[in-house]
Amino acid sequence: MIPTFRFAPSPNGYLHRGHALSALLNFRAAERQGGRFLLRIEDIDRTRALARYEDAIYEDLGWLGLAWEEPVLRQSARFPAYGAALDSLAKLGLLYPAFLSRGEAAGLIADRERSGKPWRRDPDGAPLYPGLERDWSDQRRRSEIASGRPYALRLDMARASGGLPPLGWTEADPFAPAVRSRRTAEPLAWGDVVLGRKDVPASYHLSVVVDDAFQGVTHVVRGRDLAAATSVHRVLQALLGLPEPLYFHHRLVLDENGHKLAKSRGSQAIRVLRAAGVSPAEVAAGIGL
Ligand code: GLU
Repeated sequence: MIPTFRFAPSPNGYLHRGHALSALLNFRAAERQGGRFLLRIEDIDRTRALARYEDAIYEDLGWLGLAWEEPVLRQSARFPAYGAALDSLAKLGLLYPAFLSRGEAAGLIADRERSGKPWRRDPDGAPLYPGLERDWSDQRRRSEIASGRPYALRLDMARASGGLPPLGWTEADPFAPAVRSRRTAEPLAWGDVVLGRKDVPASYHLSVVVDDAFQGVTHVVRGRDLAAATSVHRVLQALLGLPEPLYFHHRLVLDENGHKLAKSRGSQAIRVLRAAGVSPAEVAAGIGL
């Protein structure tokens, strides 16, 4: 099997120094291991993905000295594959339509919390979905859908993980192949994650797992901020019969206040540094490479 790495940015802002670290680590690891380096454009959010950001991704990565295989996979061309994955999860009886908006769920949770008991949060800090619709009859589901209300398709996580053996993943530094450790997946910490929506048969968790398998990705190298999501990804891989890649969740590039970089932070954008006369080698050195 050829070691296959990927960098998978979302074109909803300009790439910053944190993206440069992720892209360069993947590119150099592929080079070091005589493997492949793929670029994947994660543009399923059609309201936020913009062509100018996608063009800037190619330009900025090229300027940093990266080269990737063509054609580049764009997730917006992959909705049929995500729809098929959702269908197979639905056939397993693991999906349910969830109708509460974020605001409605927040209101319900606030009510419950007033009674004194704190509501559980997921690893990103969002309250777990209440899941009142989990046990609705098929008939009730069908009639709510027919009424035209918007809904999300959520994974019944307790049921899904209850039917699987305990899962985990191997954390392996691609530059130090002897250093490996096994991590335990904790999918219940996420509750019933969204896998699709009424009009969009996809979510980040679903598309990333389907495409890593489709592209033969053997090494997922990404920031530490995505480490907890790997628990969800392992469940989806197990349910969909997809292979388990190796993972490496690298350090994050922080700003001067110790915060994780956000796409909105213009001063950290690769193109802003470039316009200011910073060289690619200086960008790499500035992020510790
Ligand atoms: N598209 C995701 C992002 O921009 C990264 C996905 C991944 O590496 O799993 O943060």
